[in-house]
Amino acid sequence: MRLIADTSRCVGAGQCVLTDPDLFDQDEEDGTVLVLDGEPAGERLEHAHEAVRLCPGQALSLAE
Ligand code: SF4
Repeated sequence: MRLIADTSRCVGAGQCVLTDPDLFDQDEEDGTVLVLDGEPAGERLEHAHEAVRLCPGQALSLAE
């Protein structure tokens, strides 16, 4: 599964980073999401699903 972030929708709330700081970071300048692992597996994939569900900007998605 590929983890995709649409930074144009990201509101920089940082909810994703709280879900898994090994999977997400935030840009130092504008706070938008940085994906650290674009093909998460195992427990990290579970965290990715949770982050997609919780993201207030609907900026995150998972695709085959
Ligand atoms: S939770 Fe969503 S809106 Fe918030 S920083 Fe992460 S990707 Fe952006």
